[in-house]
Amino acid sequence: MKKIFKFALIGTGLFSVFSVILILFLLKDGFTDVKTVIFSVPEQNAVSWENIFSNSEKIELIAYNTGVMEGDRYPEIDMDMPDRNKGYDVNGYIIRHKTRGDFLVDTGFDESFYRNPPFGNSPFAIKLLLNLISNNNFTLHEDRNINLYLKKYAVKPEGIFFTHLHFDHIAGVPAVTDDVKLIMDGKEINFINKAQSLGSYLKGKNNFYTLDFSKGIDMPVLGKCIDVFGDGSFLAISTPGHSAGHVSYIVNSVNGPALVTGDAVFYKNSLKYNLGHKIFDADYDRAVKTRQKIIEFLKLYPEVIIYPGHEAGPVYFN
Ligand SMILES: [Zn+2]
Repeated sequence: MKKIFKFALIGTGLFSVFSVILILFLLKDGFTDVKTVIFSVPEQNAVSWENIFSNSEKIELIAYNTGVMEGDRYPEIDMDMPDRNKGYDVNGYIIRHKTRGDFLVDTGFDESFYRNPPFGNSPFAIKLLLNLISNNNFTLHEDRNINLYLKKYAVKPEGIFFTHLHFDHIAGVPAVTDDVKLIMDGKEINFINKAQSLGSYLKGKNNFYTLDFSKGIDMPVLGKCIDVFGDGSFLAISTPGHSAGHVSYIVNSVNGPALVTGDAVFYKNSLKYNLGHKIFDADYDRAVKTRQKIIEFLKLYPEVIIYPGHEAGPVYFN
């Protein structure tokens, strides 16, 4: 009996030492103290959505898919939800402005995910976490990754606008050159300073810009928005909840106004039932409130083309 106790004690001791080493190792991974500059925007003129949708400069929008993280879409929420076994599409977007150049909204996965499945270029800490929270079942395709899309459309991005900095939205950053501007809400930088291992995807990059929503315009229903290029072609909308500094984007596309929601809206059905994600939302109640605003906006403008965070769009509200 004493022997068993001794073994248990040694076991617990070894486990504690291992845990401390692991935590120290994980904290060491990535980087800290990201220096940021406020992304400068032209003078903001408050106008109506009708005005923006009808008169402004139009932009080319290319939505692309980089794979699917297979799994249950609706943990803990509703067992009978339709499409719940379709998994999480991992998406990215190219926007092409006539005079301002090419930009991306999020990246999706890069080519390393297909070459080195399932977690590709992910740092050790993220691989460990993904092993714990996912079933490791990613559907990846040789011909679907950001590297190939950049080549296919001859895109040289000036910058990447991020919805937020969760791994599946930033893992393709190594595909762009180090001088590309990385643009996001400043609260996401606080997040990456805490979750340093996520910084591994951004290693070597040195052009970090933050969106200052205090200088934005108050637009009906959606609240604080930034008219990024000053011509109504591309607007950043503060949509916190899924993450503290989550941002969605209105793209005044040549095919009609589009809303790139990021994970403020996971799927089309998230709008129908105002559903978030009990595990992945940083602040679930705030995410519900934010999504309610988006729902009200889409009720007023059902013509808006929707690109949800984890469902390959386009989809429509109705
Ligand atoms: Zn997310």
